[in-house]
Amino acid sequence: EGPTLLERHRAVMPDWMSLYYDEPLELVSGRGRTVLGSDGREYLDCFGGLLATMVGHDVPEITEAIRRQSSRILHSSTLYLLSGQVRLAERLAAASRMADPRVFFVNSGTEAVEAALLVATAHASSNQVLALRGSYHGRSFGTVATTGIRAWSATGFSPLQVSYLHSGYRYRSPFRDLDDARFVDACIEEMRTIIETSTSGRVAAMLVEPVQGAGGFAEPPPGFFQRTKAVLDEYGIPLISDEVQTAWGRTGRGPFGIHAHGVVPQLLTLAKGIANGLPIGAVVAEAEIMNSLPANSISTAGGNPVVMAAANATLDYIEERGLIEQADRMGEVLQHGLRAIAADSQGLVGEVRGAGLMIGVELVEPGTTEPAPALAVAAVQRARELGLLIGRGGLYGNVLRVTPPMTITAEEAARALELLGETIRSLAS
Ligand code: PMP
Repeated sequence: EGPTLLERHRAVMPDWMSLYYDEPLELVSGRGRTVLGSDGREYLDCFGGLLATMVGHDVPEITEAIRRQSSRILHSSTLYLLSGQVRLAERLAAASRMADPRVFFVNSGTEAVEAALLVATAHASSNQVLALRGSYHGRSFGTVATTGIRAWSATGFSPLQVSYLHSGYRYRSPFRDLDDARFVDACIEEMRTIIETSTSGRVAAMLVEPVQGAGGFAEPPPGFFQRTKAVLDEYGIPLISDEVQTAWGRTGRGPFGIHAHGVVPQLLTLAKGIANGLPIGAVVAEAEIMNSLPANSISTAGGNPVVMAAANATLDYIEERGLIEQADRMGEVLQHGLRAIAADSQGLVGEVRGAGLMIGVELVEPGTTEPAPALAVAAVQRARELGLLIGRGGLYGNVLRVTPPMTITAEEAARALELLGETIRSLAS
C-alpha cells in the first residue's frame, strides 16, 4: 500500500497551505448545492469553494457553454480579438455605472487588485495607498501590502506605502457604542487625520471591500462609504471597490455591492464567482485611469475564450433566473434563522451579520466579546460531520462563513439552518 493522498499532499505542498478538517476532504463531484466527497459522503455546500461556485455545481447551461467553446479553441491570447471577452466586458462596463469604463481581464482576484493598483499608481505617479483594517486583497507583492490582517500580510515587503483606516467594523471597535451617524463621524475624522498626517497628499487610490470577506463579513453602517467617497473626492483620490467576493449579486442588492451605498467608484475588481469557479479576474476602471499604462500590456491567458464562455453563461443564468433577488430572499431566511439560533446559544454567538448570501456568525467566549477561534474550528469540523460545508474567517479566525450558491432553495436553506443549529448546540453543551 502506497502513501495516502493526504501524505502525498503534505510531502509536496507548502506547509502554509492549510486544509480544512481533521481528516481533509477531497470533493469529487457536485450537482446543484450538493457535493460528493471521496469519503463516499454527500454534503450540502454552504461555502461554494470559497464563494466561487456562485450558481451551484454542474449547471447544465454552463457546462454546455464550456463544452461548446472548448471543442472550438481553448486559447488564443489577448493579442487577438476575442468575442466572448468583448461581450463580457460590455456587460461589466454597463453595470459599472462609470462614465467611460474600460475592462481588463486577468486570471484571479489577486491579479485583478494588482492590476487596479498598477493603473492607479501609474495614473497618480504615487505609491501611496489607503486601505481598511481587516481587509484581504490577495497574495502578491502589492496586494499583500494592502491586506490589513496580520496573518496574511506580515511577510509582505511591498514597495507600496499603505495607510490603514477604520473599516467600519463595529463589533469590536472602540467606537462601538456610538450611534450610526456618530460612528461614521468618528471613522471619517480618523480618515482625514490619517490622510493629513500619514500621506504626502498624493495618494494613488483607496481600496475597500463593500463587505469584508476574509475579514469576517463586516459591513460598515449606512453613510460610511458615501462620506468616505466625498472625502476622497476632496483630495482627488480614486476609490477602488474590491468586489471579488460581492460581485455578481451575492449581496442580493445588485451586481456590485458598493452601489447599494450610493457610491460609484472609479475602479472595480471582480473574480471568484463570475465564471462559476473557473479562474478569472477583471478590473473595470474609468478610461483616464485605465489608460495610464503604456500600450503593450498583455495577459497571456486573460480573457481566455473558455473562461469567458463560462462567465457569460453564469451571468445569463443569474439574470434569467432572478438570482440576485433570490440571494436577497434566501439571505434573509438564513440570517433570520441564524439569529434565532444565536439567541439560544448561551452567549456563544456574539453577532450574526451579513449581506444577502455573505453571512458571518461571530463566535465568542460566552458573555464577552472575546473571540473564540477554537470554537470556530470545532464548528466547521462538527458541521462537516453533520454533512454541511461552511467556512471560517475574521481577523481572529472566529467567524463562521455561510455562503451557499445563489441558487440555494428554501428547502436547502431550512436544512442548512437545522444543521447549523445542531452544530452550535453541540458547542454549547
Ligand atoms: N480580494 C478579495 C476581496 C478576496 O476575497 C480575495 C480572495 N479571497 C482576493 C482579492 C484574492 O483573490 P484570489 O484568491 O482569486 O487571488
